[in-house]
Amino acid sequence: MEKTLVIIKPSAIERGLIGEVIHRFERKGLQLCGMKMMQLSDEILIEHYAHLAQRTFFKRIKDSMMITPVIVCCWKGLHSVHIVRTMAGVTNGREAAQGTIRGDFSVSVQENIVHTSDTVENAKIELARFFNDNEIFEFEQSGLGFLYANDEI
Ligand code: UDP
Ligand code: MG
Repeated sequence: MEKTLVIIKPSAIERGLIGEVIHRFERKGLQLCGMKMMQLSDEILIEHYAHLAQRTFFKRIKDSMMITPVIVCCWKGLHSVHIVRTMAGVTNGREAAQGTIRGDFSVSVQENIVHTSDTVENAKIELARFFNDNEIFEFEQSGLGFLYANDEI
């Protein structure tokens, strides 16, 4: 099954939304298989946000990701990359649909509560960027038969 990365950003940490974010993915039926608090460095953010390196606001978003520690999580499930990305909503919190994390808790493009991997390929790269192998736990989620039909998994 797919695994994807969620970063609970400083905007969520500061606003007391850690539990809310985790609760949503947990209730959806995804399995938490790795989670840790870490202080991001300039180096890891240059790599993680390389696609934005030429943008004028690059330093601003890097700085905003280092204001507090963040929580990185690995969520597993069938099509979890797409599910988690959809649950986060579009980048701009002012435009994100109500019911999504960003739509419900953000009024900003930058201060938008969570990072979520955008493709299956990037999820693999990003998980390897933020987690060591021994920090991702492989264990059977109980009650799988109540989450999926036999022929879905
Ligand atoms: N960002 C920003 N201004 C922009 C575009 C992006 O502040 O015009 C920030 C925002 O926090 C966003 C992050 O940079 O979540 C990464 O941008 P990306 O385009 O990858 O958006 P995401 O995948 O997070 O929706
Ligand atoms: Mg992105």
